[in-house]
Amino acid sequence: MSLSIPENIEKIRHLISQYEKKYARIPDSVRLIAVGKTHPADKIRQAVAAGQVHFAENYLQEAVEKIRELHDLDIVWHFIGPIQSNKTHSIVENFHWVHSVDRLKIAQRLSEQRPANLAPLKILLQVNISGEESKSGIALDELEQLAADCNELPGLILSGLMAIPAPTDDFEAQRQQFRQLREGRDNLLSRGLDNCIELSMGMSGDFEAAIAEGATMIRIGTDIFGPRVNRSEPQP
Ligand SMILES: *Cc1c(COP(=O)(O)O)cnc(C)c1O
Repeated sequence: MSLSIPENIEKIRHLISQYEKKYARIPDSVRLIAVGKTHPADKIRQAVAAGQVHFAENYLQEAVEKIRELHDLDIVWHFIGPIQSNKTHSIVENFHWVHSVDRLKIAQRLSEQRPANLAPLKILLQVNISGEESKSGIALDELEQLAADCNELPGLILSGLMAIPAPTDDFEAQRQQFRQLREGRDNLLSRGLDNCIELSMGMSGDFEAAIAEGATMIRIGTDIFGPRVNRSEPQP
């Protein structure tokens, strides 16, 4: 029998605290982000009623509709999808965090367009750790330069790194990929990028390995909301 959304959230929270203990992480150092893409606003409402605060979306148009529908709730919104440069306006007006920045041009637009009445936008740089050409994300060896450039932009706070590794069921292989992201983050910290602390890594199939390697944000969709609904809109 499948569980309800509040039961799923409770189960994941329990696992997070178990893994924090198991891997000697500080208690409450891993933040759960619920990924609502393709799921309707009323499912997000159910998650909020269960105490969930952080939500992520991939598809901008779908996200903006939901953000509007849910404006009565105190939700922290994270954008985790591919960014088209002509859509940055809508991102800076609607989101608190953006995890998927992988080009300076996009970062510059986000910085310039962030409304002055809002706090600087928190961004993460998306890194392509698997090296697959089809994947978005900057290569690890270009990360230092992009991070240094983004760190100068006044409308942004460079807050960490994000990755979507190549899917594998092998726990050690999962850890090995996440470790590369952590080492990339540690390198930036050692170069004085003091706000660059977050590691957004781990999804439904690999979040134990991500927590073992230092994840501070895990992005969970399926394990909270169930399988994704087919979308009729074309994918960006
Ligand atoms: C869909 C998605 C997730 C959630 O994936 P699940 O496997 O459903 O938990 C996390 N991160 C990104 C970038 C996604 O696109």
